[in-house]
Parts: sequence; C-alpha cells; structure tokens
Amino acid sequence: KKEQLQLLAEVDAVTRDGEQLTLAANISSFKELETSMKHGAKGVGLFRTEFLYMDRSEFPTEEEQFEIYRRITERASGHPVVIRTLDIGGDKQLDYFALPEEDNPFLGYRAIRICLDRPDIFLTQLRAILRASAFGDVRVLFPMISSVDEVRQAKELLRKAMIQLDERGENYDRGLSIGIMIEVPAAAAIADLLAEEVDFFSIGTNDLVQYVLAVDRMNEQIAHMYHPFHPAVLRMLRMTANAARDRGIEVSVCGEMAGDERAIPIWLELGIQKLSMSPQSLLRVKHRVLNTTASSARETGRQSFRLARSGEIERLLSDFVTPVS
Ligand code: PEP
Ligand code: MG
Repeated sequence: KKEQLQLLAEVDAVTRDGEQLTLAANISSFKELETSMKHGAKGVGLFRTEFLYMDRSEFPTEEEQFEIYRRITERASGHPVVIRTLDIGGDKQLDYFALPEEDNPFLGYRAIRICLDRPDIFLTQLRAILRASAFGDVRVLFPMISSVDEVRQAKELLRKAMIQLDERGENYDRGLSIGIMIEVPAAAAIADLLAEEVDFFSIGTNDLVQYVLAVDRMNEQIAHMYHPFHPAVLRMLRMTANAARDRGIEVSVCGEMAGDERAIPIWLELGIQKLSMSPQSLLRVKHRVLNTTASSARETGRQSFRLARSGEIERLLSDFVTPVS
C-alpha cells in the first residue's frame, strides 16, 4: 500500500473529471521539506519558522535565518515557499524570551502581536525572508491577524526592511507576495476588507476552529467538542473563500483540516484549489483526489452547508470517502 502510494508522487492531483488541486507541505525544518519533496509536494504552503527560534539560547541572527530560508527555497526547486513570520506565545515559549504570565495565553501576547510590539525582532526576520526571495518564489505570511490595522503595520515594517536592505545593496524580490493567516474569527468576518490589503489568504483551521467554537485545541477534556465540521466553522470558511474570490486573491488552507480527506467536497464547493498539509498526508490526500469526481463531491459539499449539526455533516462527508460497496 505504501509503495503503491509512493508511485503517485510524480502524478498531479487531478479529479476524475479533470479539476486540479495543488498540494503543498507544512514544514518546520529542512528535513521535513526533503520528505515532502519525495512525496511530490508542490512547494511549501506553510513554513512554521518558530522552530528556528526554539531549542537555543538566543534569537537567531538574520544571517542564520537567511541561510535556512535560502536552502529551503532552493530545495523547493521553483515551487512557492510560504514563510510564516514568528508565531510564538499561546503554547509555544522561548527559553531566552520571557513572556508574561497570562491567564489566557491563546488570547494573549502572541504571534503578530509580539512582532508589532518588538520591531527589532520582526525586522530581523523580515530582512532574512526578503533576502531569500532573491532565490525563488518566496512569499511572506503573517499569523494571527485580527484587524486591518495590524496588516498595515506589518506591511509598513516590511517596507522598512526593504529600505534597510536597499541601503545595504542587498537583492530581494520587490514584488514578493504578502499573505495573512485567517485563523481568528474576526479575520474571517472582515475577510472582504482584508482582501483589499494582501495578495493571498491562508486559512489556519487549527486555531480558527478553536476560536470559533471557544474550544481550547490543547484541552483533552473538551476534545470531543473540537469539531472542524461544525456549521459555524463552515460558514467562516465560506466567508473567507467568497471574499478571496470576489477580490481575485488566492486562498488556501493550511490547518490540519487540509489533510482530512473528508473535507475535499468542502474545498471543491468553496473553490479552494490549494491545500497545504503535513508531509505524511500528501500521498493519501492525492490518492483520494484522483478517485474523486468533482461534480458529485461538490454536490456533497453543498449538502453539508445545509445541515445543522456537526455529527450529520461528519457522517455525510465520511460516507463520501467510504462509499458503501
Ligand atoms: C493553524 O492555526 O491552523 C495553523 C496552521 O497554524 P498553527 O497550527 O501553527 O497554529
Ligand atoms: Mg495557528
């Protein structure tokens, strides 16, 4: 079975009726990129850079970051590499950077909030990302965005990083694509406004589900309430996808849901053509896409949006992936 799946590495993810999906990888290290490329990933849809900052005693320098971003970009051989800026806080801590004790760290000092508060840390990373953009199709992604102001501030700092590089005579891609994570309900609700500000959306379902349902993604006691197929989540996905389509910007999904075969009818119905997932999911999802007829999957997707309960939706979608024989 594993060997058979491996044969699909070089095959495109196209449905039976000819609709193509782009399957990219979520990675947090160079090693994971190697696995992903062996599994036929069309580049990196999410590089979680916080792992560069962990297990060490001080912030990584611009040079250290640039080296790894460049290596990854070169290894992706022309495919896009989406580099997400630092997403610490919440459950992720750094030994050398004391974050305040918080009652609700997931609602607290996290990700872009820290970066906008500490331009020194942010600019160092932005310069490293920009320099890597001279070596391939690098795109920058801002996490935990919840307002237009945050996007504008982040873009302003990106411009500042560009000016700093200009002064040093460094090369970079001046037109590099700028995207934001849609993982906070506020962002989904104002997706139309945010779409005016950026080149792409990447939907982070892990956090989006947690925040929409008020169910801590780490809390085992309420794990049974963590429903990616809750109608409220589906509506958030639809708002985001519609806003992106209306503004003509790209939208992809990079949360765990992207690696869930049962969600394929939802993506097809919403017109989402790019999915980024863990390296281990790539071939399995591709196999499912190859055995899917988009027109009938879309009908199932439409039906899902008419159902009221997570359980019903989940059953409908599960039946879709395991047809009764
Ligand atoms: C997400 O929130 O869905 C996501 C992809 O980011 P992370 O899992 O790193 O929070
Ligand atoms: Mg997230």
